[in-house]
Amino acid sequence: MTSAARIEKHGSIAVLVIDNPPVHALSTAVKLGIVAGLDAVEHDSSVTGVVITTASKTFVAGADLKEMDRPLEPPFLPELLARIDAFPKPVAAALYGNVLGGGFELALACRLRVAAPGTKIGLPEVKVGLIPGSTGTQRLLRRVDFNTAVDVITSGKPMSAARALELGLIHQISSGDVRADTIAALERAVAENKVPASSASGVAALPGADVGTLEASVKKAARGALAPLHAFRLLVETAPLSYEDGCKKERELFVQLRSSFEARALRHSFAAERNAGRAPDLAGIAARNLSHVGVIGGGLMGCGIAFASLTSGYAVTVVEGSDAAMDAARGRMDALFASSLGSGRMTEAKATELRSRLAMTTDYAKLGDADLVIEAVFESMDVKRAVFTKLDEVTRPDAILASNTSYLDLDAIADITKNPARVVGIHFFSPAHIMRLVEVVRGAKTQKDIVATSVAFARKLGKVPVITGVCEGFCGNRILKYYRIAGEAMLEDGASPQDIDAAMNFYGFPMGPFAVQDLAGLEIAYANRKNNPAKRPDGRPLDLLERVVDAGRKGQKNAKGWYDYAPGARRGEPSDEVMALLAQARAEKGITPRSFSRDEIIEKMIGAMRNEARKLIAEGIVGSPDDVDLVLIHGYGFPAHKGGPMFEV
Ligand code: NAD
Repeated sequence: MTSAARIEKHGSIAVLVIDNPPVHALSTAVKLGIVAGLDAVEHDSSVTGVVITTASKTFVAGADLKEMDRPLEPPFLPELLARIDAFPKPVAAALYGNVLGGGFELALACRLRVAAPGTKIGLPEVKVGLIPGSTGTQRLLRRVDFNTAVDVITSGKPMSAARALELGLIHQISSGDVRADTIAALERAVAENKVPASSASGVAALPGADVGTLEASVKKAARGALAPLHAFRLLVETAPLSYEDGCKKERELFVQLRSSFEARALRHSFAAERNAGRAPDLAGIAARNLSHVGVIGGGLMGCGIAFASLTSGYAVTVVEGSDAAMDAARGRMDALFASSLGSGRMTEAKATELRSRLAMTTDYAKLGDADLVIEAVFESMDVKRAVFTKLDEVTRPDAILASNTSYLDLDAIADITKNPARVVGIHFFSPAHIMRLVEVVRGAKTQKDIVATSVAFARKLGKVPVITGVCEGFCGNRILKYYRIAGEAMLEDGASPQDIDAAMNFYGFPMGPFAVQDLAGLEIAYANRKNNPAKRPDGRPLDLLERVVDAGRKGQKNAKGWYDYAPGARRGEPSDEVMALLAQARAEKGITPRSFSRDEIIEKMIGAMRNEARKLIAEGIVGSPDDVDLVLIHGYGFPAHKGGPMFEV
């Protein structure tokens, strides 16, 4: 046996234990280990069946992404799975944790599948630009109806054990020890001669009459990613074929997609995310343990931060400025709980437990034992000064003081306090309990272990931390500023907001820049530009935003911004008034309007991001191009399947 797999005997059942922590990825070593395990028991007459499981934490959670950039090497998974399928002694799988991708394909090749409650089962290959490549599509087509197979494979979303049981994809949910239950179930099946049929048997489900509609919905959900559409078309093409022919087609497509741009880009995003928040000078610096988190300001951001901290296990104290503001903050927290309860993401018992760790007060003294305090009050230096002066008085001298400021100078905030070394920026994105990006802003004087602790805190919250230095807008909002300027410059030269938004939608952003501005409201940018006027790259002043706001158009909040909004509508319609304002501005500036192709718009918009990103890297504000990619993907809707603006440039 190899170190990646071993055999343990339980009476007449051989348990093949895969051991490749942390997630038992199906590396070459694991596949060789499985082959060796099968070889060892195939002719052992004392063995009547085999149970495949893993050593700890989770079943096989997928392929080994590290091996994806190398040529495929034997043993090949489809052949290994065919051997398991046809093995002279029935093979069962004991499932728990994550059973994903190749892990689920391995399970499907076993005759009997028993899962622990809470197991997550799925085929997420499209999320790394692939399709299931080791019989998964063909086995699924032979077990569930066509539309369900499409949903599971093209969404890549895992299902619960209960759903898998309902669909017949597993045979039993274990009530206790899943390994023992699987052994018992296999012994019974062997004794009663009732081993379930192979999942490769039977005919595949055929698409129904709605195949066109289904394709349209897959395309819409894919937002420009190609793998889900490839998977869909493969399912349509192979459903009428034999299992063997279907598997052949599946493998061809898988091998072709492995080296595609999209697969490389998604692997890059994945790897960058794993390395997020590292900095050479922080290596070996231990993060502190935190238990009590204070949040100043129970507004939009403060409540989101408090909620995320509660769900991650911290005791949280929210401090508001007045009783009236406190009531509003309570209402916001209640709404966050109600939304989680309403969607079934949280149970009543869990909500009660979370609330027992939440305090809401107007008394700053309640922060006396807080380990970390995050300020999320109004974006005004005067208000922040009052808050940090107070925090200096009431907090422990070693407590970490963080600001969620978007644009203010973090070093100036730090200097308000007696010890600027304990001040850091922890910049969340809205909605803070959902958006994954957190910029950890390292001030000139921030202590290293405080940066390391802020990174660890963000990770604990399930976020993607990116360390940035101090500059206006840090990494993300600074790039956003130039991205927007590029769009506005094209408006001035003849494009329309809808041309630009459509191009960026096509590229893969969920919303174009003008629709996003309408959603967020135009007034904050308008106010900022009073002090800091926008300029085109060649220095000419840009004032289209000002013209739109001066015409009384504030965004969705008053049903007119760059677009017109019907009452209650979230999607805008092109606005004649905006078109007239643009025409007037061009005429006044002597600009002859021209048209822009989709490709030119994309090139200019992404080019503006790249240009600013290069400056940020040169200035040392961010450590690497990968950090920029993470910021744009996790904070600004940049399509992950494009890898980020700096991928392969
Ligand atoms: P908000 O207006 O929704 O909330 C601010 C809250 O602070 C209010 O509830 C207010 O009552 C409270 N407050 C004001 N003075 C206080 C004091 N002295 N003590 C205690 N509480 C006080 O604002 P927001 O959108 O949550 O933004 C808060 C901070 O987060 C700002 O610095 C902002 O730039 C930053 N930010 C906002 C976003 C966003 O999208 N809204 C994103 C990232 C960062």
